[in-house]
Amino acid sequence: MSQIANIHQAFLASKGVSTDSRSNNKGFMFFALKGANFDGNKYVDSVMKDEAAFAVADDETLSGLTNVFIVEDVLTTLQELARFHRRYLNIPILAITGSNGKTTTKELVAAVLKEKYTIKATSGNYNNHIGVPLTLLSMDESIEFGVVEMGANHIGEIEALCKIAEPNYGIITNVGKAHLEGFGSFEGVKTAKGELYQYLKHTNGIVFINADNPHLDQMAAGLSNRIDYGPNHGKITGQITADYPFVAIKWHSGQTNKSYDISTQLIGAYNLENILSAICIGYALGVNETAINKALQAYSPSNNRSQFIQTENNQIIMDAYNANPSSMQVALQNFGRVDAENKILIIGGMKELGSDSLSEHSKLIDTIKELKLSQVMLIGEEFHNLANDNKEFSFFATTDELIDSLKASRIKNAYFLIKGSRSNKLEEVLPYL
Ligand code: ATP
Ligand code: MG
Repeated sequence: MSQIANIHQAFLASKGVSTDSRSNNKGFMFFALKGANFDGNKYVDSVMKDEAAFAVADDETLSGLTNVFIVEDVLTTLQELARFHRRYLNIPILAITGSNGKTTTKELVAAVLKEKYTIKATSGNYNNHIGVPLTLLSMDESIEFGVVEMGANHIGEIEALCKIAEPNYGIITNVGKAHLEGFGSFEGVKTAKGELYQYLKHTNGIVFINADNPHLDQMAAGLSNRIDYGPNHGKITGQITADYPFVAIKWHSGQTNKSYDISTQLIGAYNLENILSAICIGYALGVNETAINKALQAYSPSNNRSQFIQTENNQIIMDAYNANPSSMQVALQNFGRVDAENKILIIGGMKELGSDSLSEHSKLIDTIKELKLSQVMLIGEEFHNLANDNKEFSFFATTDELIDSLKASRIKNAYFLIKGSRSNKLEEVLPYL
């Protein structure tokens, strides 16, 4: 038997994979991964004493320990084991990538597919070279369908993740300006995300495409196994019927020529494409309309992703989970449509934009000026110089500075949009609103 087959047998006999020496490792298979500041090999001895079932390490000096597999490289072994396990399970897998809306789409698709299958989807945002293997290894034999979110900030990463997860179905939610630093340019983003289409083209997989998105349509040239959706084109189409505060839509099945109205608990018109994709995927995989509608109406987002929050004093759209030029624009346009007297924007700087940072922040300021807002609060060094030229906006170097100001003068009866990158931690202002 090959070493990976041996490790897989041991994996099946354990409770699952662990990569954190501080968690309860009893019965688990511990992978001694290395990070910038730690080396998992150093903890193998102690996790084995804590009754971990097995460990996988790449420090030869540990080779005497019972139930410890010594491999060439722990991370590569984790990835190979994930692929081995994926082939062993032999279930259909859907991969989701894109610049924005991956997690939201994943959650909506998971909610819909749960109506018919026992599924396992990526938990939280575990979408990288470690998260994808862990997702696959969290699937046991009861699982009938896997939904895997794939993130990337460099060319080649999606291809590598496809080679591990070997998806049968795929969707690129959209392509936009995110992680420009790593991708080099918007063309780079398209190449990188397009690796999912390329993989499915070569393996004869099925691709779900928003046919109203010209970039995706162009990237999909030459793909024959495609199922289209979109506001106006495809098997599943649909329009927004209300978006204040929550999105409601009317969708239409081209197959049965029937239409359905649903009201969701999602904020932001940009969710239309996320919802339509979930309908299209559910529909293609045999979930019936009633079950699809039920699942979408019941889904409520968490983790500061476009959540609607009513405090004692104010109404708030909390979107402090991520921020890049595309998601900022859609969030601002959505806020522009909110019909309220006293609209206040709290906005954090965008990260990872490299040399485009100044121009993208200055475009953002232009968009903000077009909205009729009563107050704008800019947070973070990215806005520093721009704030000097735009004295009508308040500037705070950090979220803590903003909190001090909110403590000093409390705001009431306002409608807020709070939008920023995770590192801004803008959700910390909530107790002061
Ligand atoms: P990450 O790269 O952090 O994993 P993600 O692609 O998983 O992000 P989500 O977590 O689903 O994205 O959504 C994050 C934010 O992106 C939302 O709060 C919203 O502001 C924006 N967003 C969601 N869907 C779309 C969409 N279809 N188009 C544009 N922006 C969107
Ligand atoms: Mg995500």
